[in-house]
Amino acid sequence: MNSGERRKEHVPLLSQRSRWIHAALVAAGAVALFALRLLPPSWIERVYSRGAYPSLVRAADILWGWTNASIFEAGSAALLVFLSGWAVLGLARVRRRQGRLRRVLVRGLAHLAAVSGAILFLFAANWGLGYRREPLPARHPELARDATPEEIRAAALAEAAGANLLHLPPANGPLAEFDSAARRGLASVLADYEGFDFRDGPPAKEFLILGKVMDLLGVAGFCSPWTLEAHANPSLPPCRVPFVLAHELAHQAGYPDESEANFLAWLACLASGDPYSAYSGHLSLVLYFESQGAYEEGELGRILEAGPLADRELARRWAAERTNTGSDLWRSGYDAYLKAGGKAEGVRSYSRVVDYAARHRASESPGEEPKGD
Ligand SMILES: [Zn+2]
Repeated sequence: MNSGERRKEHVPLLSQRSRWIHAALVAAGAVALFALRLLPPSWIERVYSRGAYPSLVRAADILWGWTNASIFEAGSAALLVFLSGWAVLGLARVRRRQGRLRRVLVRGLAHLAAVSGAILFLFAANWGLGYRREPLPARHPELARDATPEEIRAAALAEAAGANLLHLPPANGPLAEFDSAARRGLASVLADYEGFDFRDGPPAKEFLILGKVMDLLGVAGFCSPWTLEAHANPSLPPCRVPFVLAHELAHQAGYPDESEANFLAWLACLASGDPYSAYSGHLSLVLYFESQGAYEEGELGRILEAGPLADRELARRWAAERTNTGSDLWRSGYDAYLKAGGKAEGVRSYSRVVDYAARHRASESPGEEPKGD
């Protein structure tokens, strides 16, 4: 049998070894999807979130905590270059008639499926499984029910009073200072409130180019699920930076849920021992309470003093200026992503922080707890 000739006629799309690798990566992606949808939350809480995950954060800190450069950004750029090079080579091969378009396309799709499987697996194993951990109310029953209108109202007024009391001129310190204050606050909150030891983790990073993309999409902060690096949008008004950073650090600590990250960020800002961070926590909550209609029309103009009022205006203008087709698309995409991950509220889940904060405040002053359930 002339195998040489046969091979010429039927050059396999992928070699035997490469076929195995492709199949394994696609299977890894499928396992990740299965785990993200079906593993029991109590198991994830114990074995993953409080078991393996802290070591992953520590490893990320050892691997790239020493540099200010975003490894996520560098890695994304490298992946982009690799994928483009690959596409260009494929097209060149078609043009040289070494392969037919269909073959090149099928091979390209096989590669794409394998790369997607690998990315999905790394996403789930490195961070994404946290989406299925037990929700905060499972450990803190006072958060299990919605706050009453009275509780919301009391908390909304208390946050406005906190912002008035702690208002300071804009702090324009380096990101590292905000990072250490937020980290200190978060570590103490997680230790006292969650019985969870969190200290290590790569410090907040600054993007070279992706900061512009975040700005275009109106994204305030981002924690990379693959490298566990936190980033804040460089254009954010200073009064928002500590809160946004604390929110991203809560993600880094293994709390992917947006409402929980907001709630822990608020607690972390208040516990940081840094007055400007505490101010940022109060002011950010005022913005959330306002978005949920907790104040009467024009009320904030009367109850907020000039400083916090100006900062609230800055924060509102920042968001308004970044509302465009790109940000709408991003928001709908992220909404779909959260819903696909089982978060029925989608992006609206951010504002659940209003209920958490109001319930937390009410439970801290038990004399005011309403009777009943
Ligand atoms: Zn977030």
